[in-house]
Amino acid sequence: MSAVPGITLNDGKTIPQLGFGVYQIKPGETAEAVSSALEVGYRHIDTAEMYGNEKEVGEAIRASGLDRGDIFVTSKLNNSFHEPGDAREAFDTTLSDLGFDYVDLFLIHWPLPTKYNGDYVSTWKTLEEFQSDGRARSIGVSNFQIEHLERLAAETGTVPAVNQIEVHPYFTNGAVRGYGQEHGIATEAWSPIAQGKVLDDPAITQIAEKVGKSPAQVVLRWHIQRGDIVFPKSVTPSRMKENFELFDFELEPTDIDEITALDRGEDGRTGPNPDTFAYVPS
Ligand code: NAD
Repeated sequence: MSAVPGITLNDGKTIPQLGFGVYQIKPGETAEAVSSALEVGYRHIDTAEMYGNEKEVGEAIRASGLDRGDIFVTSKLNNSFHEPGDAREAFDTTLSDLGFDYVDLFLIHWPLPTKYNGDYVSTWKTLEEFQSDGRARSIGVSNFQIEHLERLAAETGTVPAVNQIEVHPYFTNGAVRGYGQEHGIATEAWSPIAQGKVLDDPAITQIAEKVGKSPAQVVLRWHIQRGDIVFPKSVTPSRMKENFELFDFELEPTDIDEITALDRGEDGRTGPNPDTFAYVPS
């Protein structure tokens, strides 16, 4: 039995609250990293077409001998393929690269409001097709702002199951997270430890000393107690293990509040602002 709690999504499916992210893991290192993560106990892998390592994720899952049904796999649509015909082809490629006949969750990676005439709505309707035909068990979005979510609500029939957004102590992204809570959209917190940048913060190191855990464990536990889904990335097995050991301690409400108060607003982002991000790989 895994200690990792499941979160029930608005479509009735369950996602493990803690997973393993593979952003910036080179294809040549991905199979080994994912194999190690599965050995540690992770059963949820977060990849994307733009990470260029879907093939290796699939390989490692097959080599593990675990049942496909026991592992939750997420991938995301490449920014180059928002037009419906392109999105259909890209999704076929994602499935064939992974070597699976379905993904558990498929996301629009970025809204790109300044590209494609601002039309992420027809892209979303294309993801609805993938869910209807059973090849994406759940569908969601990533980096969507409130305005983008409101537009989907007004113009389409499906509420995204998740919104995967940047969230960590220096950028708590409260308004978008709050919109998700009000509308049944689970928040997935990307760069949950801000790629390591929050780990030296005195507020965090002091709490870590008090509870006898590492700074990374404290920050990940903060996310877990706030109810968000996280998938920290590491290629180091000892860190994968450390990041997985979050369920034998609890933070006090005052610790949670102290960490939340580290928020720096827009200045705290480590990644781009989704309102202006317009990167489309050629
Ligand atoms: P992260 O916050 O998980 O930090 C990862 C880095 O922190 C590692 O490279 C390592 O250097 C360090 N680290 C990991 N564990 C540590 C530990 N225990 N102690 C000390 N240092 C440690 O950052 P991330 O990889 O950017 O985010 C996690 C996942 O989120 C990604 O792999 C990806 O799946 C997802 N993501 C999604 C988007 C998006 O646009 N949807 C953007 C970025 C990341």
